[in-house]
Amino acid sequence: MVLAELGGSISRALQQMSNATVIDEKVLNECLNEITRALLQSDVQFKLVRDMQTNIKKIVNLDDLAAGHNKRKIIQHAIFNELCKMLDPGKPSFTPKKGKPSVVMFVGLQGSGKTTTCTKYAYYHQKKGWKPALVCADTFRAGAFDQLKQNATKAKIPFYGSYMESDPVKIAVEGVETFKKENCDLIIVDTSGRHKQEAALFEEMRQVAEATKPDLVIFVMDSSIGQAAFDQAQAFKQSAAVGAVIVTKMDGHAKGGGALSAVAATKSPVIFIGTGEHMDEFEVFDVKPFVSRLLGMGDWSGFMDKIQEVVPKLDNQPELLQKLSEGTFTLRIMYEQFQNLLQMGPLSQLTSMLPGADLMPKGNDKESQAKIKRYMTMMDSMTNEELDSTNTKLITESRIVRIARGSGRLVREVMEMLEEYKRLTKIWSKMKGLKIPKKTDMSPL
Ligand code: GDP
Repeated sequence: MVLAELGGSISRALQQMSNATVIDEKVLNECLNEITRALLQSDVQFKLVRDMQTNIKKIVNLDDLAAGHNKRKIIQHAIFNELCKMLDPGKPSFTPKKGKPSVVMFVGLQGSGKTTTCTKYAYYHQKKGWKPALVCADTFRAGAFDQLKQNATKAKIPFYGSYMESDPVKIAVEGVETFKKENCDLIIVDTSGRHKQEAALFEEMRQVAEATKPDLVIFVMDSSIGQAAFDQAQAFKQSAAVGAVIVTKMDGHAKGGGALSAVAATKSPVIFIGTGEHMDEFEVFDVKPFVSRLLGMGDWSGFMDKIQEVVPKLDNQPELLQKLSEGTFTLRIMYEQFQNLLQMGPLSQLTSMLPGADLMPKGNDKESQAKIKRYMTMMDSMTNEELDSTNTKLITESRIVRIARGSGRLVREVMEMLEEYKRLTKIWSKMKGLKIPKKTDMSPL
């Protein structure tokens, strides 16, 4: 994700400022200029960046800061707040409630990822106990119904559509009525897109909306469109009662900032981001954790969400969290973490959420996963004493040879695994004493 580069540049600017012995006007200006440059390079709209810079300068009046105040912290806080303000236009116009039938209509240009996102949105809610259903009212793009059908079948979500009917309004109405009778509580209507904004598209959107009376209209936007995002978002906003936005393809080479600034300009909040082609590459978008991640502060809430998806009873396993915050890290904990991570799918998703810690070996996901599986095979040949000890000296040369033989791997590979354990122990020790915040009290500064 290129936004990670933006995050990197911003954190570097903050770090440089922190390294300065005295923080004066010059240091502050340098830091702000650096951040401005990074935001502009990421396609954030110029006016927003300029406003942000002015606001920070207004808040941070160096002369007024009494001696003894932590200037760095105040500046950091101001930057954090301004970035949040820029990205937080308030709540979506409507939030569906479980058990109550809601109609959610998806709009966006062709290729933005609308159909894929409809299924991701349905799948996400299904996992949380909702009863979603998908209606394909996209009669414009050949193959749209097949795509939705395929995705819906894979996720075991009921769907409605037609190969014969060419009137999107008729299909939408029939689909919504059918699923209301079946007591579905989240009826998702996928509408047609076009290659570009045109009158016919907006007219069709209006008609479908009038006939199905959606509780929420979600605008799907491709993050790679850069500065064009502003006009596009505004055009959609003017033609449909857009209440929320989902930004897709945040995993790609997109700069992302364009989409985000457009969102700020249209005052519709981003509720999710798409981070890959797969059904579960979909993240809740929360401004504060997102900005803390951008500033390199880590996103505990996203991390905990992922963990809890895989280990739903983690709340009942306080020992692991306890051990994490105590900094106790044994090979057995590493084994358990690997197990969880393998179930969690794409590793990169998770590692980017951790505060500055590249928890997993780098490389593409398949390679990382194969490596982890290899490590686990070797750990399967270890004794309980070895797994539960924090003393690596316990694992002597003869024990290494035994582990290698037992697992059918090379001595060199066992040593590599132990090196990895030592590396992770170092990272873990940095987390010692770290208070893992509850989701409700996310306050990174
Ligand atoms: P639609 O025309 O707006 O319905 O777009 P589609 O849902 O058909 O998506 C267009 C392409 O974008 C497909 O190849 C999708 O797999 C891909 N896509 C959608 N969302 C994402 C995402 O978050 N990340 C990536 N990498 N690809 C995506």
